[in-house]
Amino acid sequence: NQQFDPDPSKKTLVVLGTGWGSVSLLKKLDTENYNVIVVSPRNYFLFTPLLPSCTTGTIEHRSIMEPIRSFLRHKKAAVKYYEAECTKIDYEKKMIYINDESEIKGSTSATEVPFDMLVVGVGAENATFGIPGVREHGCFLKEVPDAQRIRKRIMDCVETATFKDQSPEEVKRLLHMVVVGGGPTGVEFAGELQDFFENDLRKWIPEISKNFHVTLVEALPNVLPMFSKNLIEYTEQTFKEETIDIRTKTMVKRVEETYIEAEYTDASGKKVLEKIPYGLLVWATGNALKPVVKDLMSQIPAQKDSRRGLAVNEYLVVKGTENIWAVGDCAIANYAPTAQVAAQEGAFLARLFNQMAKTNEIETELAELSNVQEKASSKPVRDEAFGKIKDLQKRLRRVKNIGPFEYSHQGSLAYIGSEKAVADISWLTGNLATGGQLTYFFWRSAYLSMCFSTRNRILVIMDWAKTQVFGRDVSRE
Ligand code: FAD
Ligand code: NAD
Repeated sequence: NQQFDPDPSKKTLVVLGTGWGSVSLLKKLDTENYNVIVVSPRNYFLFTPLLPSCTTGTIEHRSIMEPIRSFLRHKKAAVKYYEAECTKIDYEKKMIYINDESEIKGSTSATEVPFDMLVVGVGAENATFGIPGVREHGCFLKEVPDAQRIRKRIMDCVETATFKDQSPEEVKRLLHMVVVGGGPTGVEFAGELQDFFENDLRKWIPEISKNFHVTLVEALPNVLPMFSKNLIEYTEQTFKEETIDIRTKTMVKRVEETYIEAEYTDASGKKVLEKIPYGLLVWATGNALKPVVKDLMSQIPAQKDSRRGLAVNEYLVVKGTENIWAVGDCAIANYAPTAQVAAQEGAFLARLFNQMAKTNEIETELAELSNVQEKASSKPVRDEAFGKIKDLQKRLRRVKNIGPFEYSHQGSLAYIGSEKAVADISWLTGNLATGGQLTYFFWRSAYLSMCFSTRNRILVIMDWAKTQVFGRDVSRE
């Protein structure tokens, strides 16, 4: 209920983004120490690990969204939130430029916000590697509108395939669901889609049974490269049983409206370009830099050699700057771009900023006491000030003693369809690689426990129960 009332004696901390990195920072940050301003085009946090389940309606998207306003209002000191996209960061001027990119705009839809400290947590874009046609014809899977678009398109393909007098080739094409990228996003989506077909679509619309088909295309020799070898094999075997086609060592080169062109090497070692017709194309080939990040990097000479994101030091300070930090997918700190890393980085920054504020407080107090000590005419007053200074110096050493960021890997989890999951879990003694139905229950409980709020947790449980009892909804909207 408090009003945002900037205190000129405090530094202005601007946080870009409301994803894993920024929200984890905001959760733990003592907002009383700074004038905190959050800028993000998305006024909610999204629990991305369950986003693939939203493409088929296993989970409804609102169940994994948490409004940013609902959690910011519980902070000790008010935080200002602007629903806008940061279009430029001017490092020299300590200014960001923001645009309201939403449908409804007021007479002002572009302005600037000055900062003393800036945290960049804007995430990443979908990589297309400049392959022609991807943006025009493919669907990405990063945000809620992507999942909604895919859900609608699956049903559109199915209904169009069953249109009167549709030719057999066209039916085959429309029911061919192609996923490009065998990373966890592509694998989880392929698994969810096959589940949708097996559990619901084939019951509701039996005439599509013969032709509905999912193909996963991957340029490397295997899928899920970050998992243990036996889990890769287990995933590939499970996909085979689920009748999902895996086309490894196949690189997509071009995308047209109704087919992709993919290159593979045949048995004689010759490179072959194959046309693969599709009805739905989901493109999941990883991350690329956001323009606003690229632009910031171009302003800082120390970022010259960084290609994949903002190079940061061990305290997550953007190299070449003093007052800009970066977290999550837009930062390069030698870890994989995952939610786990982003969340730990955000929590680390919150601790760092809380400590920095305490340090400032103690240093001001120390300066005042030194003054008292110098000016005091009586010995007892001087001695008392001296004693307090000693105590404060001890506290200061303790507070300043914050170590660098260290990532602690808890493990990797992925759903692979037909109620099976794979998990590479880190234990004190080593690594546990496991796959199957039991792992699937572990996957469910792990993600449930990680959900942002109790409200999210209850909604997800209700969605799972609803899917179990009534099946997934096949309405196209
Ligand atoms: P994000 O969470 O992407 O947040 C970026 C934020 O910045 C958003 O709020 C966005 O609106 C905002 N933003 C964008 N542009 C601007 C701008 N110009 N100005 C201001 N704000 C901006 N990781 C795991 O560890 N486990 C998983 O199971 C897992 N599953 C995943 C499933 C899917 C489908 C996807 C796509 C990713 C998954 N990941 C998973 C990866 C994980 O989601 C990312 O690594 C994580 O979201 C990165 O966090 P972030 O804060 O850097 O960015
Ligand atoms: P990714 O980078 O992990 O995988 C992309 C895959 O696409 C690569 O294997 C690459 O070889 C392939 N590829 C690239 N270009 C291609 C082309 N032209 N043709 C065919 N294949 C091509 O991407 P992702 O799956 O989107 O994941 C992004 C990040 O998010 C990763 O760090 C991942 O760990 C994380 N994530 C984690 C989970 C999980 O833990 N369950 C789920 C989703 C995403």
